[in-house]
Amino acid sequence: MPQKTKNTPMMEQYLRIKEQYQDAFLFYRLGDFYELFYDDALKVAQLLELTLTSRNKNAEDPIPMCGVPYHAANNYIDILVEQGYKVAICEQVEDPKSAKGMVKREVVQLITPGTLMEGKGVNAKENNFLTALAFDQSHYGLSYVDLTTGELCSTTLSDEESVLNEASSLKTKEMVLTSNDVPQSLKDTLKTRLGIVFSLQEDYDPNAELQFLTSELASNLEKETTGKLLQYLSLTQKRSLEHIQKAQSYQVDHYLKMDYYSKANLELSQSIRTGKKHGTLLWLLDETQTAMGGRLLKQWLDRPLMQKNEIIKRQDQVASLLQAFFEREDLKEALTKVYDLERLAGRVAFGNVNGRDLLQLKSSLEQIPAIRTVLQGIDQGEWTQTLNNLEPMTDLVELIAQSINEEAPVEITEGNVIKDGFSQQLDQYRKAMRNGKQWIAELEAKEREKTGIKNLKVGYNRVFGYYIEITKANLGNLAEGTYERKQTLANAERFITPELKELEKTILEAEEQSVDLEYELFLDVRQQVKTAIDRLQNLAKMVSKTDVLQGFATVSERYQYVRPTLSDQQELTIVEGRHPVVEKVLDSQEYIANSIEMNQDTSILLITGPNMSGKSTYMRQLALTVILAQMGCFVPAQSAIMPIFDRIFTRIGASDDLIAGQSTFMVEMMEANQALAHATPNSLVLFDELGRGTATYDGMALAQAIIEYIHQNVRAKTLFSTHYHELTVLQDELSQLKNIHVGAVEKDGDLVFLHKMMEGPADKSYGIHVAKIAGLPKDLLERADSILQALEKGKTLQNQNLSEKSSEMEDSGKNQQLSLFNEFTDQESETLNELKTLDVVKMTPLDALNKLYELQQSIQE
Ligand code: ATP
Repeated sequence: MPQKTKNTPMMEQYLRIKEQYQDAFLFYRLGDFYELFYDDALKVAQLLELTLTSRNKNAEDPIPMCGVPYHAANNYIDILVEQGYKVAICEQVEDPKSAKGMVKREVVQLITPGTLMEGKGVNAKENNFLTALAFDQSHYGLSYVDLTTGELCSTTLSDEESVLNEASSLKTKEMVLTSNDVPQSLKDTLKTRLGIVFSLQEDYDPNAELQFLTSELASNLEKETTGKLLQYLSLTQKRSLEHIQKAQSYQVDHYLKMDYYSKANLELSQSIRTGKKHGTLLWLLDETQTAMGGRLLKQWLDRPLMQKNEIIKRQDQVASLLQAFFEREDLKEALTKVYDLERLAGRVAFGNVNGRDLLQLKSSLEQIPAIRTVLQGIDQGEWTQTLNNLEPMTDLVELIAQSINEEAPVEITEGNVIKDGFSQQLDQYRKAMRNGKQWIAELEAKEREKTGIKNLKVGYNRVFGYYIEITKANLGNLAEGTYERKQTLANAERFITPELKELEKTILEAEEQSVDLEYELFLDVRQQVKTAIDRLQNLAKMVSKTDVLQGFATVSERYQYVRPTLSDQQELTIVEGRHPVVEKVLDSQEYIANSIEMNQDTSILLITGPNMSGKSTYMRQLALTVILAQMGCFVPAQSAIMPIFDRIFTRIGASDDLIAGQSTFMVEMMEANQALAHATPNSLVLFDELGRGTATYDGMALAQAIIEYIHQNVRAKTLFSTHYHELTVLQDELSQLKNIHVGAVEKDGDLVFLHKMMEGPADKSYGIHVAKIAGLPKDLLERADSILQALEKGKTLQNQNLSEKSSEMEDSGKNQQLSLFNEFTDQESETLNELKTLDVVKMTPLDALNKLYELQQSIQE
């Protein structure tokens, strides 16, 4: 930074303000532009591809500068904020005409990723949550607010893992840290995995303006976290935030828990491959007609219920909608006409609604009677509470209908916003303006008559106002002293008269005052709407809930879902279940339905079958069915009896977490550990080919030990798919374990997948057949086949006792170990030995990569 003493007063002012906003780009208003200086200018010029200039070009050290026109600034700000930057808007806060010396400037708003109100960064069907995090050395306080809708919530979390899970399902882009106590490791994880931008807000005043919103929070930690979040909002937004709702405390344990990995693996709202919504459960379920409904659906998906009565209440509502096809169509139609009431309410408070927004509000409210009629028609008690809260708000409808012009422009300061008949005073001004034209025409005719000059005309310009113009040629016909001379042009003279002056005053005043009055009237209407924000938000909640439930009914009907019965006895019986998303994607092809039965005597299903046969699909199908059921939706099956699960753990698919520096196998073991440590008998555990990420013996041994551990200690309902056929003998040892397999048949040497689950273990693995389908070279496949046959003859059995329990397997010759050492060169055997003894878990990903490279080199030479 340059020496302050050398700077002009303006740059002094700039630097003073910039000092308070070091982590933001300072948009400094100069005339019609926002200018950026120094480093801000260098970075922003690059990010926005702007021309970089300098302020004092001829000085020794010119100040880098770039700027954007203020009327187009929003687009530029959007781009910066979307990339995770903060933008401080610095305006002139006094009229330059009346300012003595430097015009006073202040930052009027700090726009950050978590406080965007509109623009490209705000997706209609997604919340934009700003979070705050505190740590009191034992627990984490986490609060979140959506500035666009006013939702404010807080919770207490016990560990870093839970913070990561919450932050990831809230999709927060910005987190306010309330002290420097939050461990660096957690901050790093949040930053690298979720790309979160941090802000710091250490102090707050518990008696400040918005703090009453925390009054219902019982926990001090939550109160303080929320308090600091609100303080941050007040300091950065510097305007009315009356739409922020009272903080609600929630407990993550009250909802079906799924960790960060599981949600990603199950592709609930984001596809692993594309990162998009398409192909996810959210995509399938989103039949909502309103943006608010879309956001609520995402929240329900993140937090499926665990309270039986609450689930049943939603099921009842879905059932009643399902039975009423025609009414549901009417409901949908009414909902499509409802704009985003929540965000409109937010913008009313924020002070950035215009006439058109109020008209949208009105037409949304006008749909409420139709929605009420539909629900009254189908209500057998399920909808009573909703109906009681679905207030048509006729007072607002009338106010807007009477006050706002149907053709209101976007701008609220240029007139034409308020309807005729709403204000007598405004009507008089408007009459004066309309009549003014007539008066001028009459005056012109009168003066022509009086002077006999036919081309005498009355004109107007901004500088001189109204005038009478007479061409030079006609001047001779004008008696001296008729008019007062005002301006001389080359070909004409311009005059005024007292009468014209009087007229001018009336017309101009009417114009000016009508615009001012309209603006005042508009603010007054907006103020009246503002007093109804609570009611509007309450209404919005009812509408969005109704919308999500009609979406459930629509999906349930379209794909023939059934209402699941909730079992208190841990019974899980799904007859002919289907994977909801795969079924939809397959479209014309038939999806093969599969049943699942796990009663009190079965806690583990060990699934074997060829690759590509549908093992993962079957496991995911169960998880998604559980989530659908606990959201209150019907499920894809012929019939379903299900317990209420408390958590879902998954280890599905190979997901490297290279960003976080973890290898596939490490992630696999961490996920397994999560499940073993936290699962209860009421949890659902899905392990897909656990153990395949390491050497065969290690993998198989770990898989067996994990199965035994779950069987003896965890007792959670577990689906375990594996290619280790050797494990299927465990059914003889473990009373709660049952083998099932996916059927496949060989036809003329080719493999046909049946996708059908059957009792018992699979007869073989068909890996080579799948390789053939994938198009591997024929020679290679033949070679693989002969190696396999050699193995199957048990030719190379080595010291492979997995455990005492499986020692019989060896006797029966079933054990097929991958030991081809006799087929390898010495170098290859040595390399394999080295690989076998590597302690992968203790290696960093980089070390592992280097080692792998070294090993590969050793056998390529
Ligand atoms: P791998 O062992 O290689 O991981 P897998 O046995 O887990 O394979 P999936 O990934 O579940 O197999 O399924 C492979 C493909 O088979 C799926 O992408 C899907 O298109 C199809 N499929 C799976 N189950 C069914 C089914 N029940 N009906 C119709 N198609 C199915």
